[in-house]
Amino acid sequence: TQIFGQRTNSLGLNMNIESQGAPFFEKVRSFQNNQWQGGPIVNGKLVETGQRVGVTSPQQSTHQIGTIGWADAELAEKALELANKAYPRWTNTDVNVRAEALEKLADLLEEHLHELIALCTLEAGKTLQDGIDEVREAVDFCRYYAIQARKLMGAGEKLPGPTGETNELFVQGRGTFICISPWNFPLAIFLGQVTAALATGNCVIAKPAEQTGLVAYRAVQLAIEAGIPGDVLQFLPGKGAEVGSYLVSQENIAGVCFTGSTNTAQAINRALAARTGALVPLIAETGGQNAMLIDSTALPEQAVTDIVASAFKSAGQRCSALRVLFVQDDVADRIIELLKGAMQELLVGDPIDHKTDVGPVIDGIAKTNLEQHIIDIQHVGKLISESPMPEYTRGGTFVTPTAIEIDSINQLHRENFGPILHVIRFKRENLDQVIDDINNTGFGLTFGIHSRNETFAYDVAKRIQVGNVYINRNQVGAVVGVQPFGGRGLSGTGPKAGGPHYLYAFMTEKTFTDNI
Ligand code: NAD
Repeated sequence: TQIFGQRTNSLGLNMNIESQGAPFFEKVRSFQNNQWQGGPIVNGKLVETGQRVGVTSPQQSTHQIGTIGWADAELAEKALELANKAYPRWTNTDVNVRAEALEKLADLLEEHLHELIALCTLEAGKTLQDGIDEVREAVDFCRYYAIQARKLMGAGEKLPGPTGETNELFVQGRGTFICISPWNFPLAIFLGQVTAALATGNCVIAKPAEQTGLVAYRAVQLAIEAGIPGDVLQFLPGKGAEVGSYLVSQENIAGVCFTGSTNTAQAINRALAARTGALVPLIAETGGQNAMLIDSTALPEQAVTDIVASAFKSAGQRCSALRVLFVQDDVADRIIELLKGAMQELLVGDPIDHKTDVGPVIDGIAKTNLEQHIIDIQHVGKLISESPMPEYTRGGTFVTPTAIEIDSINQLHRENFGPILHVIRFKRENLDQVIDDINNTGFGLTFGIHSRNETFAYDVAKRIQVGNVYINRNQVGAVVGVQPFGGRGLSGTGPKAGGPHYLYAFMTEKTFTDNI
C-alpha cells in the first residue's frame, strides 16, 4: 500500500509514484551502485582538500555511496573573497540573464531526475515519492524565483517629486549571502535558498548539511552548467561548527539564509551580533512543535489518514510534521482505534521500493536520540501503537513509527525530529487552555485542524500563532507559490519561502533623486 497521496504541483513535474511503471523504477535503480565523488567547488572548479569523508546510506549502514571532500576555514576565506569580487558584476547583470540561468537549471534538474531521486534515496533515505517531490520542489523554486525576480527587479519605481526633479526607487542584491541548509530537504531547500539569493543579484557561498553533501554537489554542478558563473556561486561542504561558524562570523558578508534547528539559528544570531562590519540580515527557518486538533464533528477516517501522513511521511523528518495531536474526548477512542489500524498498515523499509511508506531516519545519532525519547516519554505517557518493523530495517537507521498518549504538551521539552506522534485528549470546555498551551511552546510553524464546523475551525485557526494552518487536510508538503512556507517565534524569522515576499529579504533598496 502506498498510504501517502500526492501533492498538487505548481510549476514543474507532476508525478505520482503509483503512476510510474517499471522503466521509471529501473532507471532510478540503475544508479544504486554508483560511487559519487564530490567536494568544494571554488571558482567553478572542484578543489581537493585534506579532508575526504566516506558517505554511507541511512538505509544500509554498510553501503558506501561515495566520498566527499570537506572545506576548511582557509578555503572559505578564499571563496568569500572571490564571491565578493564577483558581486558588482553579477548584481549589475540583467535580471533576465539571471532568471534564464535558473530556468535552465530547472530543465537540467528534470533531465537528471532519476539520478537525483536515486541520490536523495541513497544519501538521505528518502522514499521514491519523497524523492520525486524533492526534485519537483527544487524545480518549482528555480522557476518561481525566476518569475518573481523578473517581476520585482525590472525597471525602478517612479516616485513623486517637485518639478524638475525625478525620484526613482530601485532594488538590487546586497553582496555575498551565506546559505546554510539542513539534510532533510537536501536538494529543495538547498536550491531554494541559493536560487533566491542568485536571482536577486547576490553572490552565494552555499554550505550544505554534513549528511547530504553529494546531492548538493550535483546541484551546484548543474547550476554552473546552467550558466551561473563559478565565481558567483561557491560551494563549501564541511562541518557546521567549523566552516559554517567561520563564514557567519566574517565582516565581509551581506546576509545569512539559514534553515535548520532553532539552536543553530540562535548560535548564528549570536555570531552575527558579535562580529564587526556591516549590519546584515538573518533569514532563519527553524523547527516546530506542531499540533493538530480534532473536534467531535471531524470525519474520523479522513482525520486519521491526514494524521498518519502528517506524522509519519518522510519518517517524520519534516519541520512541518505533526508532533502533538489534540483529540476531543468524545471521539478520542474512535480516532485512536483507527490510528492503531492505520499504523499497522504502514510499510517501513527499503526506500527505493515504491511500496515503502516510511524510510530510515538520517543517521545513528538521530536514531539514538529518538529511541531514547520513546523510552523517556513512556515514563509519563502510555504507548498507543508501534508500526511493524520488517527484518530489512535492522541494517539501517530505522526508527519504529510510534504513537504515545500523554497528558500535556508541556511534557515535551524539545522538537523530536522523527516518526513519533504524541496524543492528548481534551475536553471542549478546556479549549482555551489547549490554545494557550500550543502558543506557549513559543514555536509557530504549522497547525492542522479537523472539524466540520467551519466557524469553529476558523476561530481556532486564527488564535493559533503559526505560519501555516491547514484545515481538514494533512499539514505537510507546502507547494511553492501555492502555500508559501515558514513560521514565527522559535520557528523562524520569515519571510516565507516560496511566497511573493521572500525575495525582498535578499535585496537592498536604492533611491535615485535626479535634478539634472
Ligand atoms: P542543524 O541546525 O543541525 O544544521 C543545519 C545546518 O547548519 C547544517 O548545514 C549545519 O552544518 C549547519 N551548522 C551547524 N552548526 C553551525 C554553526 N555553529 N554555524 C553555522 N552553521 C552551522 O539542523 P539539521 O539537523 O540539519 O536539520 C533539521 C532541523 O531543521 C529541524 O529542527 C527542522 O525542524 C529544521 N527545518 C526547518 C525548516 C523550515 O522551513 N522551518 C525546514 C527544514 C528543516
